[in-house]
Amino acid sequence: MVKCRLYERKMSQLPIFKNALQHPVFKVVSEAAKTLQLETYVIGGYVRDYLLKREHKKDFDFVAVGSGIELAREVSNLLPGKPKVTIFKNYGTAMLKTQGVELEFVGARKESYQEHSRKPSVENGTLHDDQNRRDFTINALALSVNEANFGQLLDPFNGLKDLENKIIRTPLDPNITYSDDPLRMLRAIRFATQLEFNIEKKSLQAIKENASRLEIISKERIVDEIHKILMTPKPSLGFKLLRDTGLLPLIFPELMALEGIEEKEGQLHKDNFWHTLEVVDNIAQTTDDLWLRWAALLHDIGKAPTKRFDKKNGWTFHGHEFVGSKMVYKLFKRLRMPMNDKMKFVQKMVLMSSRPIVLATEVTDSAVRRLIFDAGEHVEDLMTLCEADITTKNPKRFQKYHNNFKRVREKMVEVEERDHIRNFQPPVSGEEIMETFGLSPSREIGLIKDAIKEAILEGAIPNEYDAARKFMMQKGKEIGLKPIA
Ligand code: ATP
Ligand code: MG
Repeated sequence: MVKCRLYERKMSQLPIFKNALQHPVFKVVSEAAKTLQLETYVIGGYVRDYLLKREHKKDFDFVAVGSGIELAREVSNLLPGKPKVTIFKNYGTAMLKTQGVELEFVGARKESYQEHSRKPSVENGTLHDDQNRRDFTINALALSVNEANFGQLLDPFNGLKDLENKIIRTPLDPNITYSDDPLRMLRAIRFATQLEFNIEKKSLQAIKENASRLEIISKERIVDEIHKILMTPKPSLGFKLLRDTGLLPLIFPELMALEGIEEKEGQLHKDNFWHTLEVVDNIAQTTDDLWLRWAALLHDIGKAPTKRFDKKNGWTFHGHEFVGSKMVYKLFKRLRMPMNDKMKFVQKMVLMSSRPIVLATEVTDSAVRRLIFDAGEHVEDLMTLCEADITTKNPKRFQKYHNNFKRVREKMVEVEERDHIRNFQPPVSGEEIMETFGLSPSREIGLIKDAIKEAILEGAIPNEYDAARKFMMQKGKEIGLKPIA
């Protein structure tokens, strides 16, 4: 009896968050749980983000002490239109979509792991067992959707306190947590970056010790976490943590190779690793395009293999853009990233990353036309990258460089309005060249077409039909062609 009272007192001390459960689906799940007499809780990301007053994507994870799949079916029965329940038998989970939200159901479980896999063997368990298998205390927070204590927080590991203190901590011994499922090391860093939290010291140490376990994680999973880190407002936090824990060299050795400053004959070069992180943070302020952020991360990777010193020029990185763009290909391949136009875009940005800088000192019309021609539809993105690349701490230079790019941008608008280079279409077609000179497909046609394009980019002739036709006649004559009557 005494014990029971104590328990009641403890329960009643737990805070209630009814407001968290205002979405109509919670009532439905509550009803289904009652019908099946299943203890049910909403758990994980939704609860964490509600308590942080953070926007959460519309997905709710439910854990039922019993069958999550049965609960999902019952919920579907109670919903208008009985939405389809998708069952993932291997995971013992079920999912359904309703009213713009995604509901995921799982039965409470106990997990145990083997050495070479992050797939545990699973048995049924209590809510507490299920909370134990969660990665972090802040992700183990559960709110009851049961009628008797609707909205009550179940927080066995003081996750609420960790939310207040902005701490990432594992419910169990971190060495076990990370060794069991090494993906959690990346999740820890990703959450620390997204939420701007600190990783508990013990946990950080455990990540260092278990870093090499990353090898059992699929590349796709790793890249998924890197994407998420890159999409935060301050990605450098994550990359710094990856470096400090020893994970970075396992994922991006080519970034690690950028770290350090060498001195020769009193001459230093900048630390291109820390510079890169600043560039990524800068670009995170100006674009949400994941691939442009990737371009910022990789824009200097060619600098490690191309670094040279000579007495006359000091430190140089000749051709680092070209070498870097080749490295992008290898890196994407190694990490099983998409080898499609996204990769080509990143390669192009890396390859062209110095072009606007060269141009900024002397903005000529022809150089601007060439830049627009070569960058095509990505010229704006390239300018965004170059502006993010300005990391000088000298305020005068900072202002000067930005003003230079402002001039380049203005010139780009002016030139584009007049010359329409961006989606360049040859003003005289190959067919017309063939017809004019009575040619069958041959080298001469390419030659003339190229000469016309060059003349336009150089500014020798305007990007117009009449001028191009006249130029074509001239050029044809020069190479010994005669127009047919
Ligand atoms: P978000 O969806 O915003 O990234 P989340 O916390 O919802 O964050 P999910 O990956 O959707 O993250 O996972 C849902 C919940 O499942 C987590 O909150 C956590 O409790 C648990 N979880 C997910 N992955 C793991 C893992 N690898 N190890 C332990 N628990 C995990
Ligand atoms: Mg989630």
